[in-house]
Amino acid sequence: MANVSFQAIPQQVANLNYAQLKRLRHEVEQNIAHDQVGQAISDREETVNHCPHCDSHVLNRWGMTKQGIQRYKCKDCGKTFNALANTPLYRMRKAEKWVNYTKLMWDGISLRKATKKLDINLRTSFRWRHIFLQNPANLGTSELKGVIEADETFLPESFKGKRKLDRPARKRGGGRVRQVLILSALDRTGAITHQVLERNTRENIQAALTPLLSEGSVLCTDGNQSYRGIARDLNVDHKRLIGLDNQRVIDDVYHTQTINNYIMRWKTWLVGFNGVGKAYVPNYLSWFRFMELHQEHTEQTWLREAL
Ligand SMILES: [Zn+2]
Repeated sequence: MANVSFQAIPQQVANLNYAQLKRLRHEVEQNIAHDQVGQAISDREETVNHCPHCDSHVLNRWGMTKQGIQRYKCKDCGKTFNALANTPLYRMRKAEKWVNYTKLMWDGISLRKATKKLDINLRTSFRWRHIFLQNPANLGTSELKGVIEADETFLPESFKGKRKLDRPARKRGGGRVRQVLILSALDRTGAITHQVLERNTRENIQAALTPLLSEGSVLCTDGNQSYRGIARDLNVDHKRLIGLDNQRVIDDVYHTQTINNYIMRWKTWLVGFNGVGKAYVPNYLSWFRFMELHQEHTEQTWLREAL
């Protein structure tokens, strides 16, 4: 648009009534969101260099999809695909709503609230959440380094995840609430891991910690006896921090305050969801970890993670 005609717009906006302003804001937001998706996809297009079917590097550009995404044809196997092939976003529709959906994820908004805000149905809301969590959840940390803090914690299990999405929750009366056991560990470089354990036994904790620890690590834990034997078996140095307030520090560097604070933060965050089913706990923890690791983010960060 020419600058002269653009300059006339604010003047016109000043004359709009409230309802018109709201509609205009909606239009503007949609357009911005659409542009951001377009920008992220176009960056993705720059990196497409092989066929997802046969791995060949000999590709031809082959027109655009209806949504304006670059298509390719492989010269070796002859198959076509678009720039989103092999990403969680492949075949996902309503691209103009993706960025706004991820914005709601930063805000920790429930599936139901997202359906209202974005005018999508519950099934879509559920599927999109899963899609956007796919890469954050796969960010498995294979090994922690140096000083490592580990702690196990219980979370009361909710049965929400077990009910059908389109049926209201049944009230559950009385009874003992089952607890989900979660082992979290992190190091001082910012790597974080979490695993749901079946039982609070030394065997379970050891199985979870073994791939994470290596010689030269220093494991910092609370007084739980299990860690003693684990550290001995894995031949790593062990600092037991025993103190009622978790504030103890050994030699200025060995403590469990980072992990304790981290656990406290995700527990507080989870309260907003009114209970999480055991099967979904890993996803929620990955979600929280992703946000912790991307505290400095733009509106495109989550979208780009999926590309
Ligand atoms: Zn091919």
